[in-house]
Amino acid sequence: MADAVNTLPFFYGNITREEAEDYLRQANVGNGIYLIRQSRNYLGGFALSVLHSGHCYHYTIEREPNDTYAIAGGKSHRTPVGVIDYHSQEMDGLVCLLKKPCNRPKNMQPKIGPFEDLKEKLIREYVTQTWNLMGAALEQAIISQRPKLEKLISTTAHEQMPWFHGSITREDSEPRLLSGPRTNGKFLIRQRDSGGSYALCLLHERQVMHYRVDRDGSGKLSIPDGKKFDTLWQLVEHYSYKPDGLLRVLTEPCSRPEGETGLIGRPPLPRDPPGITSALQNAAGGIFSKLRTVPIPGIKKNRGSRHTSDNLNSYETSVPNNQAASKDAMPMDTQVYESPYADPDELRSSTVERSQLFLEDGELGSGNFGTVMRGTYKMRKTEKQVAVKILKNEDNNQSVHEEMLREASVMQQLDNPYIVRMIGICEAENLMLVMELAELGPLHKFLQKNKQTSVRNITELVHQVSIGMRYLEEHHFVHRDLAARNVLLVTQHYAKISDFGLSKALAEEHSYYKAKGHGKWPVKWYAPECINYLKFSSKSDVWSFGVLMWEAYSYGQKPYKGLKGNDVMQMIEGGRRMDAPGSCPPEMYELMRTCWTYTAEDRPAFNVVEPRLREYYYDIAQ
Ligand code: AMP
Repeated sequence: MADAVNTLPFFYGNITREEAEDYLRQANVGNGIYLIRQSRNYLGGFALSVLHSGHCYHYTIEREPNDTYAIAGGKSHRTPVGVIDYHSQEMDGLVCLLKKPCNRPKNMQPKIGPFEDLKEKLIREYVTQTWNLMGAALEQAIISQRPKLEKLISTTAHEQMPWFHGSITREDSEPRLLSGPRTNGKFLIRQRDSGGSYALCLLHERQVMHYRVDRDGSGKLSIPDGKKFDTLWQLVEHYSYKPDGLLRVLTEPCSRPEGETGLIGRPPLPRDPPGITSALQNAAGGIFSKLRTVPIPGIKKNRGSRHTSDNLNSYETSVPNNQAASKDAMPMDTQVYESPYADPDELRSSTVERSQLFLEDGELGSGNFGTVMRGTYKMRKTEKQVAVKILKNEDNNQSVHEEMLREASVMQQLDNPYIVRMIGICEAENLMLVMELAELGPLHKFLQKNKQTSVRNITELVHQVSIGMRYLEEHHFVHRDLAARNVLLVTQHYAKISDFGLSKALAEEHSYYKAKGHGKWPVKWYAPECINYLKFSSKSDVWSFGVLMWEAYSYGQKPYKGLKGNDVMQMIEGGRRMDAPGSCPPEMYELMRTCWTYTAEDRPAFNVVEPRLREYYYDIAQ
């Protein structure tokens, strides 16, 4: 939704208020001409500039905590465009009605802010260095966590700016500004306390002025009575083009002494992370182009070292030895994001030695085969918490034994962060399937118990399932039992697809698997072609995914409640579908309905479903 703004002809991107006024006046159309630009102080916000009686008026369109947009104090709308449409009809506090959009001059693209330019590179660097990821694992980390990573980068980017001197005292700051050329407007920022207040120290006529930068209850930063900002870099950027109450504009950043990082107590990295320096130097315009960078503090290069909670702000992630203890951990913070065999020293073998496997008391769950227990697997270098599916062999049933081995052979071929990986098979007192542990258990049960889970959180999890399913589709596997009960949670923000008991690898030349006959099937999750023609494809998994989405947004309710399998089939054949769950966003219901397209050929594939979910998730999570 917010992204749609970027494509509007009257959206100018990151221009200043003065530039906006120039465009409106040049248009020379009269009252009510307007444009939108990116907010330079609120992350994800916009500014509306409108001309009336020769004056320009500027209104901030804020993104509100519940993902709606409003001009401060005004009526909320689902999108920024909704705000514009509304004020074309109603003044409601505005100086006049919005009459005519002021479109960008021909060939002018919306101006990209210096930070937007950098964000991509900074995110990549951050993920590479914090979690030591490469290749597909790196890409998938960014795809699934982009909104959080963007926020993280935006709110901590100042730490790598040379003008940020960390928590030095007022007395220490003065000689720094007074040494070397005493250029008017030379400045630095120091941290005043751990509660997030700062001081802006500015050189004016050989005197150092100290301005407090306070953080209000909602986390916004401002100089007393000044404009509010989400981040320090936005504040610096603003005061470097306009004094706005200061004695003068900020001109030259006062660099911190060699070898000192922006954060006290964090050791500097041995060298600049590649790419960041050049990224910053290449950034066009604004204060960033004047800067030299120093390494990002808090990023440690060693495998297993993680970002620390204090640079995460609202995404307070602690170092997870026991990953589930930290419910907000990003998937990459957990032990089960990377393949257990990513370390070349840990040989990939599909057998687990019984002597290396330690079962613990207490069941994680039970299924057709028997019980699933928690355990520890001692690998060469590390110890891993695992889930162990134990075949009950009371009746020594050979076919169940074979079924479990078939499940293991499918799992062994899959390696994706959003799929429960198999660690190995252990043949001992029982046949045991050793898997990655997802200790928060099945999604539907989690949501039944945690009704306060936000739509954003549900969308994040469902999106992760679509990433895992896109992987299966690309690798020609059909799951055949995709349902909320078979999505297991590692943390509240990390889902993995499990239970490959019915799964099949498709032969090269086939796009579907044909079952030999009907079985004990989860009919309510099955597409019409599965029931009618025994045909299973990634497209029939898409149908099941629609049902899974319905389960998730209805907080774990049973689909088609009260109906028998036959009734459901009749309902589907009759063109009817389940209604939207109570709190389901319309965009997500629409996507479910597309997943329930009757004909498989017309149904979207996961390579369409995943980007649609991604787009919606980024939109509400920004
Ligand atoms: P299944 O036989 O695969 O349906 O598993 C039965 C139950 O065991 C699931 O519903 C989960 O509660 C639990 N379970 C299975 N696999 C795992 C796992 N990898 N991690 C944690 N719990 C699991």
